[in-house]
Amino acid sequence: MFDNLSERLGGILDRLTGRGALTEKDVDAAMREVRRALLEADVALEVVRSFTERVREQAIGATVVKSVTPGQMVVKIVHDELINTLGAEGQTIDVNSVPPVPIMMVGLQGSGKTTTTAKLARRLVQRDKRKVLMASLDVYRPAAMEQLAVLGRDLDIPTLPIVAGQQPTQIAKRALEAGKLGGYDIVLLDTAGRTTLDEEMMAEAAAIKAAANPHEVLLVADSLTGQDAVNLARSFDQRVGLTGIVLTRVDGDGRGGAALSMRAVTGKPIKLIGTGEKTDALEDFHPDRIAGRILG
Ligand code: GDP
Repeated sequence: MFDNLSERLGGILDRLTGRGALTEKDVDAAMREVRRALLEADVALEVVRSFTERVREQAIGATVVKSVTPGQMVVKIVHDELINTLGAEGQTIDVNSVPPVPIMMVGLQGSGKTTTTAKLARRLVQRDKRKVLMASLDVYRPAAMEQLAVLGRDLDIPTLPIVAGQQPTQIAKRALEAGKLGGYDIVLLDTAGRTTLDEEMMAEAAAIKAAANPHEVLLVADSLTGQDAVNLARSFDQRVGLTGIVLTRVDGDGRGGAALSMRAVTGKPIKLIGTGEKTDALEDFHPDRIAGRILG
């Protein structure tokens, strides 16, 4: 097992107690440990570089006050910069618009998109008392449409009836029409994913966005994605335009690197996290918890 970052920085810096400001040499030694901790947490390389540079600038010349050790001081700078990068607490799904408010889910196949659609529907219905309609736009995999219908039946939340032969944009329009006629507050659109990033998926997601004009476009991303998280989030944000990110499988990820990577490259908030397979395993995102995991 590795020591955590606090211990490692303490080991490097605490022999300096009493020397006043940290020198560049001290800070560079500390930054090697910060870089290592971030890479171990599976933060993407380009994010590690820019993050470490920001911490370095703050640490050089910082005066060590008597009440803390130099190691503790650098840990505090790293912690504060993590929180700063991860964004504010209490991000919410914005449903304040003319009903039915469309919310679109995008992401790779297997990321947990359909499960997350049902989790979000459940939260909006049970906690927020909204009337929600779910629609699957995955015309390539009938099993995916059926999966959403099954989840809907279990939760007693309606899904748009499946009509064979329709294009995703037509289904999106039909869902919004049904939402209007049925007096729904929110329509959740679960789009088709692919196993890898490809142009066809992006073009389709962009077309659905243009047709449905969603109030939120949420990227559902597996927190175990690691280094690929950056490409995934950047591509979807540039090509489709995101309003937020939902991280799934946080229950299986002790490291938290994907959260930092995706937030850093897109600037878009992580709004929710998935913490299990069941439809009640959806939680608010707490930046301090992820920062704690990264610091170890
Ligand atoms: P999709 O292809 O993106 O729609 O993915 P699915 O919703 O079908 O999810 C793929 C698998 O991941 C399923 O077995 C889900 O139960 C599982 N899953 C989804 N979210 C989570 C999560 O937050 N934690 C865990 N442990 N499993 C999840």
